[in-house]
Amino acid sequence: MADIIKLLPDNIANQIAAGEVIQRPASAVKELLENAVDAGATDIQLLVKDAGKELIQVIDNGSGMSELDARMCFERHATSKIQTIDDLFHIRTMGFRGEALASIAAVAQVELKTRREQEELGIYIEIENSAVIKQEPCQFHVGTSIAMKNLFFNVPARRNFLKSNAAEMRHVVDEFIRVAMAYPQLQFSLVSNGQELFHLDKGSLKQRIVGILGQSYNAKLVSVKESTDYMNVYGFVGKPDTAKKTRGDQFFFVNNRFIKSPYLHHAVMNAFEEMIPADSYPLYALFIEVDPAHVDINVHPTKQEIKFDDEKVMYAFVQAAIKHSLAQFSITPTLDFEL
Ligand code: ADP
Ligand code: MG
Repeated sequence: MADIIKLLPDNIANQIAAGEVIQRPASAVKELLENAVDAGATDIQLLVKDAGKELIQVIDNGSGMSELDARMCFERHATSKIQTIDDLFHIRTMGFRGEALASIAAVAQVELKTRREQEELGIYIEIENSAVIKQEPCQFHVGTSIAMKNLFFNVPARRNFLKSNAAEMRHVVDEFIRVAMAYPQLQFSLVSNGQELFHLDKGSLKQRIVGILGQSYNAKLVSVKESTDYMNVYGFVGKPDTAKKTRGDQFFFVNNRFIKSPYLHHAVMNAFEEMIPADSYPLYALFIEVDPAHVDINVHPTKQEIKFDDEKVMYAFVQAAIKHSLAQFSITPTLDFEL
């Protein structure tokens, strides 16, 4: 019998791998925004058409890329952010897997423009099915623009799997908010079908939260700030009367990375116990800073699940920090409400 095993061609392998990283427009939004942050940008614009199904474009004023890097960045496992597995435990960048652009280039038509400060002309590259189909010099400001068009144009089964524009747009906005909230010192905007939905000037964390959630929260945020040798927690919780029956205004960040943690969510709920109705959720935007050696962020390709080496310490600390803040603002149940 003849041998039957063959290596998959790169573009097919990339398409398969892309399934893990890019499930929907919002996943690409997250990856492109994080790349802009990692590139040291201070002004980041996100443009989408049809909830990202037709176009997702991120324009930044970050470092830009050299001509060679502009081609390399679309290779799988190509990254400037880590070199050894050890680096993972000191990581300060949002990215490190070197998979996002390779995945995007496998499932969308991509147009890249980029220029570094030391270059007079930038470089323009067009990619389809993981292959460069056009490359030429271009005029461009220092920074990078990556436009991806017709997501899943070559994977119709995935394209059909996408939800309505309204549903996909909600995910896009969620990802935008998560990155924008983590970096109040950077300017962000979101334009959807030509209409500006967010314009967030750089400012304090409080200004950023209010800019995102609405001006009415300005007088409703209680600051949280507690430190130990092991970790810091800071951010804001909403006063008890802002608790809602629906979820959505709960944000945890670990070393500036948005994470989902039912366990830490429970710690917050616990701190609010008896101050809010049992079936409602308090608003919170909490930032935990901990030595990267104490967390494993490489649990899942989207990096939204992480492992702490000592979860119980985290839980107790978060809960205590919030209780402390709420007490200081005289809104514990034992004191008279004066809100
Ligand atoms: P990762 O972010 O995990 O390194 P990506 O596939 O997202 O992997 O990006 C690959 C590389 O391309 C990055 O490591 C970075 O060097 C470069 N890159 C991506 N986006 C940008 C950008 N907006 N500005 C400058 N360099 C970028
Ligand atoms: Mg990346």
